Amino acid sequence: MAEVLAGDYLSGLKQYRGIQGATLKDSITVADSDPPAVFRDDDVADLLQGLMSSGKIVEPDQAAELLYCVVMPPGCRFQDEHVIGEHSYFLYWHLDLGQLDVDVNWAHFAWVTNDGTLDSLTTILSHELVESCTDPEGTGWTADSGPCPPTGWCEIGDVCGDTGLVNGVTVQSYWSQRDAACVIPGKSA
Ligand SMILES: [Zn+2]
Repeated sequence: MAEVLAGDYLSGLKQYRGIQGATLKDSITVADSDPPAVFRDDDVADLLQGLMSSGKIVEPDQAAELLYCVVMPPGCRFQDEHVIGEHSYFLYWHLDLGQLDVDVNWAHFAWVTNDGTLDSLTTILSHELVESCTDPEGTGWTADSGPCPPTGWCEIGDVCGDTGLVNGVTVQSYWSQRDAACVIPGKSA
């Protein structure tokens, strides 16, 4: 996703609480654990909690505005099989026995399922990325009427569906209130 972040893709988010661009801080491959064949949000949160407390990834208070993105391995699916990606947050805690101190912070994360094609993966990931930026905890930029069944509640990626290339990477369009349209800033094709 570094290529996407290097382009203008996120520039359309400035209209929402002045959101700036983003950078890819780090990425790791987790080879020593597999998710259950049918996983839940808690399984992803548990994975992240373990990686943070063992020092394999940074903790939420070690950098500002972190979003942890998890690409699931092929062959597993979410408990609701219609959901192929999601973003959420959990309370990260870490007990420091030396200091007799407990470190507690909110950790925001997104996960995407993996059908084995890169285009699908980056499409879902871009969708979750813009929604995490604009509505990290379900209290931000949403529409409470519109085409999202069954509740009518949707985020800025849910009302759009086009894809395009940003620096050679397939991404999904998102809703721009300013343009009253779905946009892909920085799109080349
Ligand atoms: Zn969505």
